[in-house]
This record gives sequence, structure tokens and C-alpha cells, in this order.
Amino acid sequence: MTNTASRQTGNTQSPNNNATRDARTSIIARARQEIVAMKAYSSARSLYKSNPDTIFLDANEAPFSPFVGAQSLNRYPDQQPEKPIKALCRYYDVSSRNLITARGADEVIDILMRSFCRPAIDNIIICPPTFAMYEQAALMQGAEVKSVPLTSDDFILDISGITNAADENTKLVFICSPNNPTGNSADKEDIITLCRAFDGKAVIVLDETYNEYSKQPSLIPLTEEFENLIVLRTLSKSHACAGLRCGVGIAQAEIIALLRKVLAPYPLPQPVMAAVLNTMNDTALERLAKKRDELIQLRDECAAKLQAHGAIGKVFPSDANYILVKVKDSEDFKNRFTEAQIIVRNQSHQEGLQDCFRISIGTAAEMELFFRVLDGEKRTLGVNDRIASVNRTTKETAISVSVNLDQTSPVAIDTGVGFYDHMLDQIAKHGGIALQVECHGDLHIDPHHTIEDCAIALGQALKQALGDKSGIGRYGFTLPMDETQAGVSLDLGGRFYLQFDVNDGKGFPENHVGDLPTDMIEHIFLSIAENMNANIHIKVNGENTHHMVEACFKAFARALRQAVKREGEELPSTKGIL
Ligand SMILES: *Cc1c(COP(=O)(O)O)cnc(C)c1O
Repeated sequence: MTNTASRQTGNTQSPNNNATRDARTSIIARARQEIVAMKAYSSARSLYKSNPDTIFLDANEAPFSPFVGAQSLNRYPDQQPEKPIKALCRYYDVSSRNLITARGADEVIDILMRSFCRPAIDNIIICPPTFAMYEQAALMQGAEVKSVPLTSDDFILDISGITNAADENTKLVFICSPNNPTGNSADKEDIITLCRAFDGKAVIVLDETYNEYSKQPSLIPLTEEFENLIVLRTLSKSHACAGLRCGVGIAQAEIIALLRKVLAPYPLPQPVMAAVLNTMNDTALERLAKKRDELIQLRDECAAKLQAHGAIGKVFPSDANYILVKVKDSEDFKNRFTEAQIIVRNQSHQEGLQDCFRISIGTAAEMELFFRVLDGEKRTLGVNDRIASVNRTTKETAISVSVNLDQTSPVAIDTGVGFYDHMLDQIAKHGGIALQVECHGDLHIDPHHTIEDCAIALGQALKQALGDKSGIGRYGFTLPMDETQAGVSLDLGGRFYLQFDVNDGKGFPENHVGDLPTDMIEHIFLSIAENMNANIHIKVNGENTHHMVEACFKAFARALRQAVKREGEELPSTKGIL
């Protein structure tokens, strides 16, 4: 082979790497040479850059759209679409020459296997217990799998074991950090040692799927130094996007160029790429980072609780969004959770993980239920909580509302309007319901859209959660608060109607309470009434605007509490647990 392969793909990413490295010693020389020699499939879309004037008559696409509002669905997408790639590169802080995106990290594993391993000749090294797809992908490619187990008590890489196991046909070494299912991270020095030991021989595949949940910084920067290192990342776990199927490989340009040849011409569906862009915008990233912080805190709390629990023999330290535990009575543990329909992952089939279970961290409410079942309580099934989620996006606001009429937690309100949060909190607390409201609105313009749209979504969620069980009875509540008196009556079966009377038509004394404009109060109840098909009558009299507004929300919540209460309930508890 001549030097051309490495010249064509080039590599000037960092001053450290050797741009003129001889193709015979480059890691590309270790790839399947038929793939190195193969010309990339030139799909219609890869041949020409388009501009708004371009007319496409080249790919036998239909010139019309499949339904009103479809966005470019009649056209083939790019193999590596520019905007999502740019967003991913910004997030991982790499250049586009160094990143490939595919249908999940799983597909990157698969194309690595197909690019490097000759069937029935080559082999890979894995370090079990670890992620099962490495072995699966190797078997499908006909590559042999050499196992070099992690140390038995603390799951540390056996570096000399790995180098000893390698032979001249070893092409890929898979390291998972944080490791699935053990949860611990590999040592940076060990990764560097492996990159050096396998320089020009094999690719070190560092799977950092769970990096965002870990205290360890990513080792992506090491790819600048080592041409035989590829780091895998994915939006599946860290960005709550397992359903999207978007993962990436990050490496020097030669490997990336090789992998792009093996990747299908149109692997990434257009709607998926649109969702990737939404996920990678600053607001979403900020929110996800906050959510992960909360989950990490919950993980640590759960780990401490598990540690102290009599049924648990050992809790392994976790850098990820799951915890591996060794239980004392595996049968009992299994049966208890199966019966409660709480699914945890049994790991006993893996060498060294006898009686071990991997528990993904769910919501706070789910984990609470998990611990109650662990404590021996029976979970009542078949009486489902009345829950609903509404997601509503307009030009002005993006809102997510979840309600559970049969739980009192979690309650988490974040609309960006402080006093409104406080009022919605009253609805949850005094209504005795779980309520989560999250809104990103155009507050820089004014709070109007946020306030109204949240009320609309709340009304819709309440209606959905009630389902066809909404009562036709009338409920009412009168609430005094110092000088103020508020009376609310509510009929859920009736048609939508709002009667709103403040100080006998004179209105609120002040035009704001905190950051909430009081002329919005009527709008809020109007939107709730309209969207939950309720008839709401509110009458409030008083002198202090704060008291008056708060009393309206509290009295409404109290009336709602009566209205949503399950009648003729056999359950002594509404928690889904007896
Ligand atoms: C879940 C998981 C993957 C798969 O990621 P996708 O991007 O969803 O394909 C890869 N590696 C590890 C270690 C995982 O746990």
C-alpha cells in the first residue's frame, strides 16, 4: 500500500500527531484493506452542495410532501448533516473532521467492527463484566472475542493481562468507563498506557456513554495525542434521548473517514436530526445538566440507603446513573421486585457478578416505591394512578406539565415567574396532588405568555388525568385569610364557565403581586376552566392583594382536592401501596 490513503484523509488536528506518518505504521494499516481501498459510496446527496436555488432531479425523490407541515421528509438527508454535526462538535468540543454520528453508540461499535475485523481471522479484547454489545457485534462480524476480566473485588483493568492476551490479529480493545454494569471509571493513566502499548497495532475503543454522570473528566482530549484512540459518546443516557438513536465516535480524522465509508449513506432520519438540534440548544443543555445533577444526588442518596439496608450485601461505587448491588438473598430479591412489577437488571449471568443486580435510578417517586418494596411492603397493582403529561410548544413558550392525582409528590414548579410558582405550588399542596410544571418562556418580553400557557397546559393535564372519571358533583371551598375571604365553587362535569368577581367588581387593589400581574389572575383561571372543561366560580373580597390572590389559589386547590378524590375507594392508601 502506498501513502495515499493517509494523505487523502489527512490529519492536521493537533501539533502532536504525526501528519506524515507512514501508512504502513498508521493505525489505518490495521483496518481491513478492502475497506481502505474501497471508494466511498457516492449517494446523490453527497455529490453536490445545495443552495436555495438548487433543483433536485437526481435521486428519484418525490417532489411533494407526505402530509401538511412535513419538513423536508421527501428528501434524503445528508449522511452527516451539517447542523447537527456542528451542534454535536460544539458540545464535545471537537472539529467535524474528528466526529462521526450514527444510530447510537451501538452502531459506531458495529462499524468499527466491520472496518477493522476480518471474519474468522481477527479478534477483539473485552474486559468483563462489561457492556454486552461489544461481544455481540464481534460475533456478528465473525471476530474472535478474547476476555480479560476486570479484577474481582474492585473491577480494575488488568493492563498486563490485556497486553499479554493480544496477538498480531488483535484489532480492537474495548474499555467502558464508567463501566456498565459495575459503575466505576477506568484510570486515565491506564488508558494512556494502553494507547501506547497498542500504538500502530489496535484501536482502543473508550466507551464514555456515562461520562456526564461521572466526576471524571472526559478523555476526548487524548484523541488528539493518540491516533489509535476512539471515544464513544451518546445522547441516549446522558441526554435522556435513548429513543432518538444518536451516538458519536470521536477520533483522529483517518479513523473517522474510514468509518464514514462503512456507515450507511442515510443513517440519520431527518426528524431525529431535528430533535438532536433541539436537544443541543443552550436552554435544553442547561436543563439537562440540572436534571443530571438532581439524578446524581438521588443516586448518592439511594446508594447510602442501600448500603444501610439489611437485604443488601454490597453496594458498588457508581459514577453512572445506575447502582450495582450484591444482594443477600437473590431469589427473594428477584421475586419481590418481579411481583411488584419493578424491573431491575439481574447480572448473575456475568462472571463475577453472582447475586448482583443493576438498578437504574428513576424518579424520586419511583425510587421511594423501590425502597418500600425492598422493605417488604406489597405494591398494589391494577389500581393505577391517574396521571397525565402535557407538552406544549409554541413560538413563545415550551411547557411540560405532569400531574398525578393520586400522589402528593413530586411537586416541582419552575415557570420563571416566582410568585406564579408559589401559587401553582399552592394548587399542588392544597389540592393534594403531584404536580410538575416546567416552562421556558419569552420572559424577556413579558410574563403574559408564560402565565397563560402554563394555565392552559395545567388545565389540559388535569382533564387528561381525570379521564372519564371526572365527577359531576359540585364542590366548593371558602377560605378566610386575615381580612380576605375567598370562595371557590367547582363543577368538573359541566361545561366550561368562569365567574370571577373581585371586591364586587372593583378589582385587586394592586396591579402586581410580586412578579405576577394581577390582571392575569382571571386569565389563569379562565385558561384552567376552559382546558379542563370546568365551571369555576370565584369570589374574593379583601384589602391585601397578596392575601386575596393566594386565597383564590388555595380555595381553588381545596375545591379541586374534593373533586378529584376517588370515591368508593377500596384502597386504604392512595400511594399504590397497602
Ligand atoms: C447504553 C450503552 C450504549 C448504547 O448506546 P446507544 O447510543 O443507545 O446505542 C453503549 N455503551 C454502553 C456502555 C451503554 O451502556
